[in-house]
Amino acid sequence: MTKLSITPDAPALARRVGLLGGTFDPIHEGHLALARHFARVLDLTEVILLPAGQPWQKPEVSAAGHRLAMTRLAAATLALPGVTVTVDADEIEHDGPTYTVETLRRWRAKSESNAQAALTLLMGADQLLHLDSWHEWRELFALAHLGVASRPGFDFAALPPEVGAAVAERRADAATLGSTRCGHLLIDETLALDVSATEIRQAIGLTGTKGTADAQTTTPGGPAAGKLPAAVRDYIHQHHLYRHHG
Ligand code: ATP
Repeated sequence: MTKLSITPDAPALARRVGLLGGTFDPIHEGHLALARHFARVLDLTEVILLPAGQPWQKPEVSAAGHRLAMTRLAAATLALPGVTVTVDADEIEHDGPTYTVETLRRWRAKSESNAQAALTLLMGADQLLHLDSWHEWRELFALAHLGVASRPGFDFAALPPEVGAAVAERRADAATLGSTRCGHLLIDETLALDVSATEIRQAIGLTGTKGTADAQTTTPGGPAAGKLPAAVRDYIHQHHLYRHHG
């Protein structure tokens, strides 16, 4: 593989975009913390939230329309001065299984401005730990940087050898990610928000199956309090989502 040449003092590219994809079932404060954190660390000009269509690794997920609606509500709460926050429905509108590498190709091909942007795919440590299971995972680096944040319960020491080798080769600092289009990786070990969508779905499902109001979980003071933006919590309540889980 050709080693990428790095110019240490290269100026930052005009567009520095962070793309956070996820099932977002539901979108929660862990996702928002990840986006906020990298917006600051990477001095991003844009954050794009990208709900997955039909994730091939998670076949049973809530309807795309609900996940898109919750993502839009959450995006509106991401107060990031100077950063444009958008929700991209590309994967939801795309028929069939979606692979991140193909989504990135489509995004790059949309405009010359997209082609030239510094693009960083944002993810939590759990995703890096099985990156080698992603479709054409090595190709991701020809399309984007990776910004990976720590997540409670996931240890970077457990990386599969091939992913570990890619990390060692591509690890770089924030300035390098901002001044180049793709190919580098930044690991940030300072984030520690212990929340997952699974835990939230289960908490809501348990209160539902006990016959108590799901409002216990989806209103202030319930088990998921503080882990969901209020607008998403209200949406879940109004649409009776996740009651069957648990
Ligand atoms: P589930 O529990 O259903 O697997 P999840 O909470 O992991 O869902 P996803 O939508 O699968 O949510 O995650 C989207 C992205 O956000 C992934 O890259 C994931 O690593 C990251 N992420 C989710 N929660 C956190 C968190 N608490 N800290 C850091 N990153 C997170």
